[in-house]
Amino acid sequence: MQRNKALDFDSDTDYLARLRKRTVGFDDLKRLRTELVIEATGEHRRKHSIKEKTETLVRVRRDRDIVTVLTNPKRFPSPVRPVGSSSSSTRCTRTQAGTQLDMTLLNRLLRFNAKTVTVQAGIRLRELAEKLAVHGLELVGGCDDPDRTVGGAISSGSLTAAIPGEGGDLASSVVRLTLITPQGHRLDIGQDRADLLRVALMSYGLLGVVCEVELRIRRIRSYAMRNKTLNFDELANYMPDLAQVRAAVKLFLLPYRDTAFVEVRVTGSKNRPVHGWPWKIRNWAWNSVLPRVVHSVGRVIPIRQIRDPLIDTVNEAAQVLVNRGLSASGSNSAEQSGQFRTLSRPQRPTRIRYCTWAFPACQFGAVVKAYRDFCRAHNKTSKFRCDLPAIAYRVDKDQSALLSPSFDEQVFSLSVRTTNTSGWEDFVIEFAEFAAGFAGIPLFNQTCGLTAGYVEDVFGKRLAHLRAIRRRMDPNDRMLNQFFAEHVG
Ligand SMILES: Cc1cc2nc3c(=O)[nH]c(=O)nc-3n(C[C@H](O)[C@H](O)[C@H](O)COP(=O)(O)OP(=O)(O)OC[C@H]3O[C@@H](n4cnc5c(N)ncnc54)[C@H](O)[C@@H]3O)c2cc1C
Repeated sequence: MQRNKALDFDSDTDYLARLRKRTVGFDDLKRLRTELVIEATGEHRRKHSIKEKTETLVRVRRDRDIVTVLTNPKRFPSPVRPVGSSSSSTRCTRTQAGTQLDMTLLNRLLRFNAKTVTVQAGIRLRELAEKLAVHGLELVGGCDDPDRTVGGAISSGSLTAAIPGEGGDLASSVVRLTLITPQGHRLDIGQDRADLLRVALMSYGLLGVVCEVELRIRRIRSYAMRNKTLNFDELANYMPDLAQVRAAVKLFLLPYRDTAFVEVRVTGSKNRPVHGWPWKIRNWAWNSVLPRVVHSVGRVIPIRQIRDPLIDTVNEAAQVLVNRGLSASGSNSAEQSGQFRTLSRPQRPTRIRYCTWAFPACQFGAVVKAYRDFCRAHNKTSKFRCDLPAIAYRVDKDQSALLSPSFDEQVFSLSVRTTNTSGWEDFVIEFAEFAAGFAGIPLFNQTCGLTAGYVEDVFGKRLAHLRAIRRRMDPNDRMLNQFFAEHVG
């Protein structure tokens, strides 16, 4: 999709007005907006592109910019979709001809004490973790990808390998949030309105735009890491133990090697010092070097019989040398602030494609074995295979958000990931069928290949409740894009 030049309220103050002066004969805003598109993309000589439908990207700097956009549908057409770091893998932030609100400049830490921190919604987890670390404080949830924004993470699925008692996702540590409703009104929702807070968390920007969030924090707490390598059958046998252990559980799965790396994080009574540099190297190797290497191997070696085992070897070596070899201890703070680089942003989307489902923990032993067999069978018929290890987390039961995937029970999330895109679309559709066979629970921002009927079956009354509130809060469908019209309604 072609995207227009971002409207930045400060540097482009009344860019439209200036443009109007320059472009004589332009009497309607719709055409002016299109002209912006053409200028920004350097396509001004291609007359036919004037007719293309495009989305408007607005960079938000102040809360009142959000109000300006939401209350002016003529200038900023519907649907309006807030965007954080844009790391979602579905069409949840997309619009055909509407308005995207880039929240990443709304990134100030407003205030904190020993127990909570209040931030603007566009601040990235990394930035927040770094600021808190200076005072010996950290976020409660151990979120992996620190480039996501606080607003995006609490408005969508943001699963984490959490230590029991920490909550299954970042949304569970929200104490209060401020929402700008589709009509442009400020609405403060705190724990004193627990039912409304539960609906607002993980509501994917359907009830309005979150501009401020207060999160629980704590003193930095270290954990020790234990690793084990198993084959898939052994892993399935261990699964009941892994579901109960008082530790955070993360799995790296290599189905074509029949190898699973288990990483368990245990908090002890001692708070040992944790160094940031092993986490930086680990993250650089894992999220930058590895995807590049496997992608290059995939491109330069055409013979499958050589290429595929080589990719598996690289993945296995990365796991042993980097993930296991480098860090024996960590903390949420070290993991989030010690990460290497931005993986995904609107201007430079990540190379990694991913799709996540959650499965009831009691079934996950069967799921991992079937997943290995599914990957191999799919590879035989289609020749496609994911070139990065899949990642699984144990996510404990968490009812802090209405659409929480672990609302009913403890689950394991399973994220399949690849840099190899040819064949990916078919893979995720078949993977969706596979997941449905094991009562898989989807996330609207991370699960590709979803069908509306299936979503209805899984979320049932909870989805109906969200739908009713959404329709009451947004009767004119200001926030509703095509994707959510299909899946939430
Ligand atoms: C390499 C990589 C690793 C990842 N690792 C994990 C992981 O470990 N665990 C996990 O759960 N996910 C993971 N993800 C998925 C993704 O990062 C998360 O879902 C994340 O929480 C989305 O945050 P974001 O800022 O990118 O939000 P976006 O993708 O920009 O938006 C997500 C949703 O929230 C809405 N939204 C955004 N900001 C606001 C706001 N201010 N107010 C209201 N609504 C808003 C959007 O409209 C959209 O519906 C990963 C993704 C990548 C690419």
